[in-house]
Amino acid sequence: MNSWRDNLRKVEPYVPGEQPELSDMIKLNTNENPYPPSPEVRRVIQNFDDSMLRLYPDPNSTELAKAVAECYDVKSGQVFVGVGSDDVLAIAFMTFFNSEKPILFPDITYSFYDVWAELFQIPYEKVPLNDVFEVEGKDYYGENGGVVIANPNAPTGIAQGLPALEEIIKHNQDVVVIIDEAYIDFGGTSALELTEKYDNVLIVQTLSKSRSLAGMRIGYAIGQEELIRAMNDVRFSFNSYPMTRLSVSIGAAAIRDRAYFEETCRKIIETREWTKKELAKLGFHFWDSCTNFIFARHKTIPGIVFFEALRKQKIFVRRFGNQKRIEDYLRISIGTQEEMERFIKEVKHIMEQAGSQG
Ligand SMILES: *Cc1c(COP(=O)(O)O)cnc(C)c1O
Repeated sequence: MNSWRDNLRKVEPYVPGEQPELSDMIKLNTNENPYPPSPEVRRVIQNFDDSMLRLYPDPNSTELAKAVAECYDVKSGQVFVGVGSDDVLAIAFMTFFNSEKPILFPDITYSFYDVWAELFQIPYEKVPLNDVFEVEGKDYYGENGGVVIANPNAPTGIAQGLPALEEIIKHNQDVVVIIDEAYIDFGGTSALELTEKYDNVLIVQTLSKSRSLAGMRIGYAIGQEELIRAMNDVRFSFNSYPMTRLSVSIGAAAIRDRAYFEETCRKIIETREWTKKELAKLGFHFWDSCTNFIFARHKTIPGIVFFEALRKQKIFVRRFGNQKRIEDYLRISIGTQEEMERFIKEVKHIMEQAGSQG
């Protein structure tokens, strides 16, 4: 064996939900938005001047950063944009977590956090969620190298109130606290206002879910200018032109169309509440989701039974079979009302079959 193999970077990558492309499938496994992006996005694409692609894009993605800043009433210098919030989060980890002390995040949360910690060789500790699957604030009060909280959390869907979150921040003013708000537009209260009061708080959001742009890869962070400058220094030490010309224009157009965005979120929330009622009637237990998914388990029938039977009907949901505490849960993204009606019908059918066998 040649020795170059001794020097490979060995990492265990994050495994995203599968992306089948079947014409008649119902895809409820990666929390995508079932509705198309704003019609303004189509307009940008139709009017896009392809000859501009000879030129490098604006390294600062100014148009997009300005649109975000206007939308959230902050300065452009308080906005960092990246290739999806995964890119934004990865750069934040690199920028802020350089201490010997472990960073803290929940044991059940977005499973990319430990992958980045491993990749960047950041020590970390996973803090168990409490018995009702909530983040227990006081578990984060000890010495650490940084804190990462998804709010609402994924895959539980549970949102934490601002006072509880602020307590965590108050106890951690010597480190950076990242609040990952990938799902905040579907419920819960954004911690954005806390970035004014605390210079160590970074809010991360994405256009993938509430703005239907998962395929375009656009995310951003908001915090005080000093944090954003530090992230840009790392960014420009790695890749000077992360955002394409098209993604900058598309992202800005989607952000500016607030009416369409609000209408889409409203529809998803309405369908989510309908789906909760139906699942409850069928004997499912679930947490009170504030997101565009529901994390549910049936009282008697194992998660794997539903997962596989649904799959045969080309209905894809997500299951975390390698985590004991949540192996019987299904994470069900909210589709259109019609899709969820078919999903519920199929679930009923599976239950009848399980009943007749048992
Ligand atoms: C979806 C998701 C992200 C990543 O979204 P991008 O598509 O990379 O913007 C980050 N955090 C959480 C908790 C998510 O669910």
